[in-house]
Amino acid sequence: MATELVDRFGRVHTDLRISVTDRCNFRCQYCMPMEGMEWLDRSDLLTFEEITRVARVLVEQCGVSSIRLTGGEPTVRARLPVLVAQLSELGVDLSMTTNAATLAQIADDLWTAGLERINISLDTLQADRFYELTRRDSLAAVLEGIDAAIRVGFEPVKVNAVLMRGINDDEVVDFLDLGRSKGVIVRFIEFMPLDAQGEWSADRVVSYNEILTRAAEYFDFDPVERGSSPAERFVYRDGRGEFGIIASVSEPFCDSCDRIRLTADGQVRNCLFALDHVDVRRVLRGGGSDDDLVTAIAGEVDRKWAGHAIGQVHFLRPSKSMSQLGG
Ligand code: SAM
Ligand code: SF4
Repeated sequence: MATELVDRFGRVHTDLRISVTDRCNFRCQYCMPMEGMEWLDRSDLLTFEEITRVARVLVEQCGVSSIRLTGGEPTVRARLPVLVAQLSELGVDLSMTTNAATLAQIADDLWTAGLERINISLDTLQADRFYELTRRDSLAAVLEGIDAAIRVGFEPVKVNAVLMRGINDDEVVDFLDLGRSKGVIVRFIEFMPLDAQGEWSADRVVSYNEILTRAAEYFDFDPVERGSSPAERFVYRDGRGEFGIIASVSEPFCDSCDRIRLTADGQVRNCLFALDHVDVRRVLRGGGSDDDLVTAIAGEVDRKWAGHAIGQVHFLRPSKSMSQLGG
C-alpha cells in the first residue's frame, strides 16, 4: 500500500462513506427542512465512473477496506445496482444505509450486484408519528423493505433509530421487540446537532444511560466486545440476538474514528462536523492523476481534528445538513 490515510493523531482511516445523491424521498424533521432544499444539478453529481475511480484509488493505494453507500437517500439514484456492481469488484466490505421506502423493489437487484450488508433507518413504529417525523406516509413500505432485506439474505440487517426526547423515546422496548421477532439488530442513535432546522438541543438527546436503563427493565442482556464498531453492543441472555447504542453525543467515539466521507458533489470531508473539505471533483475533472487524488485526500485526513466538541463553547455547526453529509 502506498499511502495509509493517517491523521496527525495517528488514527488510520479505512472506512469510506459515499453519498450517491443529496436527494431524498423523505423529509425527516431532524435531517432536512420540509421545503427549500436546493438539490444539486445533475452535472454537479459525481458520475458512477468518478465515484468508482475515487473508491478504487482509496482501496488499492490507501488501504480502505470498507465502503458504505448513503445519501440523501441512495435508492433514489437511478441505476444504483450498476454502481454497486462496479464497487463490488473492488472486493471490500460493501454496505448501504437506506430509509428502505423502496427497498422491496430493488433489494434483489442490489444483492445480485454484490451489496452485502444493509442498515435501515426507522425512528418510529407508529404510523401517525412516522408521518410527522418523515412527512411521508411510508411506514408500511419501510416494514416491507425490512422484510425484503431479510428475505434476500443481507447479513446482518440492522435497524437504526434516532431517539428524540418527547418524540419517540417511549418506543425503546417496541424497537427491541421488533429486532427480536424479526432477527435484525436494532441500534439506537443519539440525536446530533446536524438537523437542517437547527432545532437540536442537548436536552432532546436521549442518552446511552437512559436507553440502557429502559432496555434493562424488560430484557436480560450482557455487553459484548465493541471492536471497531461505534456501537456499544449487548447480547440477549436468551440467545435471541443483540442490540446496540451509538452514543455519538454523550460518549463520542472520535478517538477511534476511521471514517472519511465523499459527498455527492465530490467533496471529501474528514468528519461529519468538519467545517472544511477538499474538492476531489475538481481534481477528477481537471485531469488529475491517481496520485493527485491520493495527495488531496491524504492531506484532508491529516488535517482532521481530535473530536467533534458537541456541547463545548467552541462547537460550530457545519453549514450542511445530515442529508448532504451522508450520516
Ligand atoms: N437516507 C438514508 C437513511 O435515512 O438511512 C441515508 C442518509 S441519512 C442522512 C443517514 C443516517 O443519518 C440515518 O440513519 C439518519 O437517521 C441519520 N440522521 C440524520 N439526521 C440525524 C441527526 N440529526 N442526528 C442523528 N442521526 C441523524
Ligand atoms: Fe432522507 Fe435519510 Fe435524511 Fe430522512 S434521514 S430525510 S431518509 S436522508
